[in-house]
Amino acid sequence: MYWVIIILVFALILFLVWASADVGSNIYLKALCKGDGAQRVVSLTFDDGPDEQMTPLVLDVLKQYNIKATFFLVGSKVDNNPDIVRRIVAEGHIVANHTYSHSGLFPLSSKREVKQELERCNAAIKRSTGLSPKLFRPPFGVTNPIIGAVIKSLNLKTIGWSIRSLDTMADKSRSTICQRVKERLHPGAIILLHDRCDKADELLKEIIQTTLENNYNFISIDKMLKINPYEK
Ligand SMILES: [Zn+2]
Repeated sequence: MYWVIIILVFALILFLVWASADVGSNIYLKALCKGDGAQRVVSLTFDDGPDEQMTPLVLDVLKQYNIKATFFLVGSKVDNNPDIVRRIVAEGHIVANHTYSHSGLFPLSSKREVKQELERCNAAIKRSTGLSPKLFRPPFGVTNPIIGAVIKSLNLKTIGWSIRSLDTMADKSRSTICQRVKERLHPGAIILLHDRCDKADELLKEIIQTTLENNYNFISIDKMLKINPYEK
């Protein structure tokens, strides 16, 4: 009898870990992780910027290919690089919320702390651009009931991803990352990248080329998901 209980408890723990760690699990909040798949289009998203060195280079590549992406920004970095944030917006990309300090403790924060992290990030973006983002991506893709409740109360929309490039893993070569993205390409894909990574511009170029070679086009996330990225 005891082993039945042990197995049930173990299954419950596994379920709770999955529900928290997978942004697409939709247990604690509804995350939009891909488009409807009606067209051969994908959307590029960048987390953890703006980065003083890499973001301008990433923007150069996007401009070269005339692709509009979404940047999930860290509020403290926004305060340090307001000019880059203004350039992101001026070049037609979307800016969105990725918390103020991107703390590893964010998933363990109280309701008050979570609310503060989200509000401070939006305030920083508003200070530099005048825009109030409605789109949010949780750091590490981790969600829980507290984060879910705050997102709801602030009327934010959570954006996940359907292709994780693993570009932050130092042991992965550019061609491995590209191959990984290529194998997972699907209509309506949301691709997760990081503009803080070393040589993010070179990786981006390769991913764009691979995607185009596979007959996919790029679309901005608001058009793909038919949502408004900012509070009016
Ligand atoms: Zn992040």
